[in-house]
Amino acid sequence: MTTPSDGRAAPVAAVEELKALLGPRGWLEGDDAAPFVADVFGHRRGPAALVVRPASTREVASVVTICRRHGVAIVPQGGNTGLCGGAVPVAGGAPCIVLSLARMNRIVSIDPLRFTVTAEAGCIVQTIQEAAAEVDRSFALDWGARGSAMLGGAISTNAGGINVLRFGNTREQVLGLEVVLPDGRIWNGLRALRKDSSGYDLKQLFIGAEGTLGIVTRAVMRLHPRAPREQTMFASVGDFGRLMELFALARSVGDAHLSAFELIPGRLIELALARHRRLVRPIETRAEWNVLVRFSGGDDIADLLERLFAEAFERGLLTDAALAGSLAQERNLWELRDEITPMRLMTGKMLKWDASLPIDCIVAFLTEAEARARAIHADLEVIAFGHVGDGNLHLSIWPDGTPGDPVFDRRCEHIVRAVDELVWAYGGSVSAEHGVGADQCARVRQQKPPIEFEMMAKIKALLDPDALLNPGKIFGPASAPARPAD
Ligand SMILES: Cc1cc2nc3c(=O)[nH]c(=O)nc-3n(C[C@H](O)[C@H](O)[C@H](O)COP(=O)(O)OP(=O)(O)OC[C@H]3O[C@@H](n4cnc5c(N)ncnc54)[C@H](O)[C@@H]3O)c2cc1C
Repeated sequence: MTTPSDGRAAPVAAVEELKALLGPRGWLEGDDAAPFVADVFGHRRGPAALVVRPASTREVASVVTICRRHGVAIVPQGGNTGLCGGAVPVAGGAPCIVLSLARMNRIVSIDPLRFTVTAEAGCIVQTIQEAAAEVDRSFALDWGARGSAMLGGAISTNAGGINVLRFGNTREQVLGLEVVLPDGRIWNGLRALRKDSSGYDLKQLFIGAEGTLGIVTRAVMRLHPRAPREQTMFASVGDFGRLMELFALARSVGDAHLSAFELIPGRLIELALARHRRLVRPIETRAEWNVLVRFSGGDDIADLLERLFAEAFERGLLTDAALAGSLAQERNLWELRDEITPMRLMTGKMLKWDASLPIDCIVAFLTEAEARARAIHADLEVIAFGHVGDGNLHLSIWPDGTPGDPVFDRRCEHIVRAVDELVWAYGGSVSAEHGVGADQCARVRQQKPPIEFEMMAKIKALLDPDALLNPGKIFGPASAPARPAD
């Protein structure tokens, strides 16, 4: 797959050694490798000398050893559903291979008494959810890409999703890890301990490291008791300015039963309903803003949701609502939520933020972000949705214009900068749950105080001195400007 224009080609000897090590099922090249070198929406694409598919931790370690000897970089890949271009090679980068974990897809053990599951990194998230349900337990990780995203990818991006409100993000689910280090050694940290104060908690380094420090091969993950019931209310927001009042009411009425609070704009609902005929309109009221509020618990959750609706309606926080009255209705609401990804529903130049904000600032941030963007380019559309119960807003801006036109391109850059600065002014982060990948390097570098970035770079240099693991990700090109010292 490597062509002369790809920069330095990987040594033929390395490729031959890898093929011999892994056997015919263990590697792909040519057209078979094409899906592994482009990201989920086809926005990023980069060359790889080979796609390797090891079947065991030992094979991963041997691949790393061979690559290290030949100076070939490694791009670890799970389900390739990441949204920042982290799992594919960078165009024009060092010679590299893609290391897919897809064949390491076994659940090693599941222990309902310990409330743990041990699985290989290539295990699909939904497979673990289903295995947990079979032993009457709940696996916390859940989001729209559950059928393709893999455990190692979730850990490496510290993924969030729709259950963070109840269980926390991926980091909070990990009890132990097995990792192949950049020097080819295997670190077996597969402990199932809730408490361990015996020094540095090294597993934390690899969670959210996006494959830049090591290759996660297996993990011990927490399980949770399965709620006997879950019920969701779809509601039209009466006064968007008081969204957080509604959230606070949902928390105080639901208490620990509140398990999801998602914001959905009417515009995306209409697009999703038009695209997916199987989806049913939840209520006739067509509001600009809607929320999905889910309670999980015992028999009393329906009464609690009714109470929430009554109080919220009386206060003018909601104008209309529907409670899912059957499993089919419940499923319809969450499928609707899964299908509102703007990148799938809309075309054109999109500027996007996976913003993390102090929870009470979401509405003010959104209003100001739109004003800042319009001041730069008046003709644009703004759409926001997401896990607002976690302070996580997925914001997209579509400026109308022609990409490639220098004035338009410069305006787009200014909008990105202006909104990033607003995120930082609110004490937020430009990456709440999607990671940095290749796409967000420059923005994250501007966000982090130099001392923080320096500590990250020192850890990277210590563990991966030859920069062989996932080059061009998180840190980006060395020339990227840093934030001035405080
Ligand atoms: C429709 C849709 C909805 C989504 N919704 C959400 C959401 O709600 N919340 C959310 O957080 N994300 C969401 N995502 C993003 C994505 O699913 C997550 O980032 C997920 O964690 C990626 O898992 P993956 O297996 O596909 O990883 P990949 O995309 O393959 O890889 C992601 C990163 O992890 C690295 N990596 C992968 N496996 C390993 C490993 N074993 N060891 C070391 N490094 C590794 C890769 O090099 C890359 O840097 C969504 C994506 C889609 C397409």
